[in-house]
Amino acid sequence: MGVALGRVMNDETASAIRQRLRVTGVVQGVGFRPTVYQLATALDLSGCVGNDSAGVFVELEGPRPAIDDFVLRLVAEPPPLAHIDAIDRRDIEPTGESDFVIVESRRDDNASTLVSPDLEVCADCLSEMNDPANRRYRYPFINCTNCGPRFTITRETPYDRPLTTMASFLMCDTCQAEYDDPADRRFHAQPNACADCGPHIWLEKDALQPFDDVIAASRAAIAAGEIVAVKGIGGFHLACDARNADAVATLRQRKHRTAKPFAVMAADLVTAEQIADLADAERTLLTSPQRPIVLVAESATSGLDAEVAPGNSHLGVMLPYTPLHHLLLEPGDVWVMTSANYASEPIVKDNTEARAKLGELADTLLLHDRAIHVHCDDSVVRVAAGAELPVRRSRGFAPFPVRLPVAVPPTLAVGGELKATFCLADGNNAFMSQHIGDMENIETLDAFTAAVDHMTGLFRIEPERVVADMHPRYLSSRWAEDHYTDRLIRIQHHHAHIGSVMAENGHTGPVIGFSFDGTGYGTDGSIWGGEVLLGDLDGLSRVGHLGVAQLVGGDAAVKRPYRMALSHLWAASIGWDEDIPAVAQTSAEEQRIIRQQLETGLNSVETTSMGRLFDAVASLAGVCHEISYEGQAAIELEALGTPDAEGEYRFDLITNETGLIVDPSPVIAAVAGDVTSGVSAPIISTRFHRALAAAMVASAREMRQRYHIDTAALSGGVFQNVTLLEAAKRGLEESGFEVLTHRLVPPNDGGLALGQIALAGRR
Ligand code: ZN
Ligand code: ZN
Ligand code: FE
Repeated sequence: MGVALGRVMNDETASAIRQRLRVTGVVQGVGFRPTVYQLATALDLSGCVGNDSAGVFVELEGPRPAIDDFVLRLVAEPPPLAHIDAIDRRDIEPTGESDFVIVESRRDDNASTLVSPDLEVCADCLSEMNDPANRRYRYPFINCTNCGPRFTITRETPYDRPLTTMASFLMCDTCQAEYDDPADRRFHAQPNACADCGPHIWLEKDALQPFDDVIAASRAAIAAGEIVAVKGIGGFHLACDARNADAVATLRQRKHRTAKPFAVMAADLVTAEQIADLADAERTLLTSPQRPIVLVAESATSGLDAEVAPGNSHLGVMLPYTPLHHLLLEPGDVWVMTSANYASEPIVKDNTEARAKLGELADTLLLHDRAIHVHCDDSVVRVAAGAELPVRRSRGFAPFPVRLPVAVPPTLAVGGELKATFCLADGNNAFMSQHIGDMENIETLDAFTAAVDHMTGLFRIEPERVVADMHPRYLSSRWAEDHYTDRLIRIQHHHAHIGSVMAENGHTGPVIGFSFDGTGYGTDGSIWGGEVLLGDLDGLSRVGHLGVAQLVGGDAAVKRPYRMALSHLWAASIGWDEDIPAVAQTSAEEQRIIRQQLETGLNSVETTSMGRLFDAVASLAGVCHEISYEGQAAIELEALGTPDAEGEYRFDLITNETGLIVDPSPVIAAVAGDVTSGVSAPIISTRFHRALAAAMVASAREMRQRYHIDTAALSGGVFQNVTLLEAAKRGLEESGFEVLTHRLVPPNDGGLALGQIALAGRR
């Protein structure tokens, strides 16, 4: 017995077996095959490795313990940018071959693989770029398997050079040798290039003139107060010196952008520390490989022009993420870097388009000839309660999937209207698209269609079902009707928000959901936005809402918060006293019109919108009466808050058998009282935020008593408000609730599509 066992073990260790491994996850374009090659040869294993449409396949031949060791080591130390979802192993017939080889990519139409997002230039490449002895000294397109563009240059999978926008560049012998050498950091680095064979940069100005040193000429243009359009990874930026008031004013004027903050790029972390007061979590985000724009507190001594982010205590800051950025910005430099587009059109990404559209916006174009296949805007994040809170999930994140807690059939969810994204899902993978923009014009719709085509192609997912918002006039909903009437499912807007935060937390329910935003089409045809929902991923229902007010004049009420102030005063039966700033600044004629609309209900819609309540309070407090970008009044109101202020307002909680109403009347009365007696806006702001958090806790307790549910889920654009989010989370947790908040996708409509997928999943 003992002998027999010993011989079996002996056989097992000595004789060669062959196994086929299938590795899925983010495994292409991240240096996976060289890692496999090096590990296999180190362990004396023969076989092969290659990419196909499903991921990476590996065949290994050798003693079983060595193969086990291989798998353990691969899982323990994958390439830095890789993300292994699973390794599937099966025995196959040994072939007796003695080499380990990397084989050509295979195409297979029935499987999907994960494509890596675009990532910042790595430290190794940067030090080479800064080394005068290196052959890529100051070369703006240096990259390797650990860094560089991916998603935005990939036309199709598998991720191989001929299927990227690098296809037109023929590698020189030196680059080719790196590309072919399994021991090299650039082994099969698809965008591999050098100054001899790869893309290059140039400047275009009114009078075409050659620039010997494009970088020096670009810096000189910025120093002279010019606006330079800089082609990047996912599109163009408009750049100018953030300390030059004339340049910033010119940019605002040309872009017709009066108040919406501009993001800035600081040359390095030291420079970022000079303009902003950074917390540790913010430093970590700023220097992460995704390199998002991080919304941070501007320091009092930043020296930046006030018009960079007017009326806003927060500043969007990012660090350089392409080699070109590193060449352009020198320590101490802070440049405005805003997406190059008109208003709500998509970001410009092609040279011809840049020449046609950016000529009036920029004085100089800094172009290159590596084509951008799909546009991808910068991502935006904030820190809330010490954790990452996405505001826009795009470059660096897309198309990395979110894991779904329920497996779904191939599904496309088209999202909402503003901050549009879509989501393509199959099984447990939900691929959120990059930020598309506000779906208000044909250009954005075209970009949406192109992005859907791109992603369905990349992942080979043909949607069996398509999910859209219930709003009959959203362009996304109409697009879905036009293309997929036969397989269309509609999910209510605020349900989708809660589904989104549940899905990313891997939570199937049940929850008490607080879905607070500006606008969403309700099941009763009115405008919802302050909703308390109950249920799980099989279905949610409305059990409570903010007290009803009138949206007088429709869109006009959204653009002019003072209309909401008057409307909420009316709903609370409070007179329009001229001592209230919102009333004082409304002309007698407009007051007459508003009153008429309120009395008759003509040209007026009922709403429970929380965003509009923020507008009303911001106007009542004299903070903001008219807006020029979405959410402006609420953002400015939040920015004023001061933790030192005393007191808080109180909402009335009206309960009945069917649910509850959060009545804002006492809050409106208190704000009107405070403002007329000279209480400052910061104190009003603080008292209001506290009241809303307290109302949420009270509502959640009421619902827990009735339904014995102790998980609360917070979603909707209002929860980009960190003051509210932190106060509500703290209050709910102190009352014993588990609180689900967003970490992976935005609480705003940019995260909506994920919830649409999650809620349609089990229908
Ligand atoms: Zn690199
Ligand atoms: Zn080369
Ligand atoms: Fe929404």
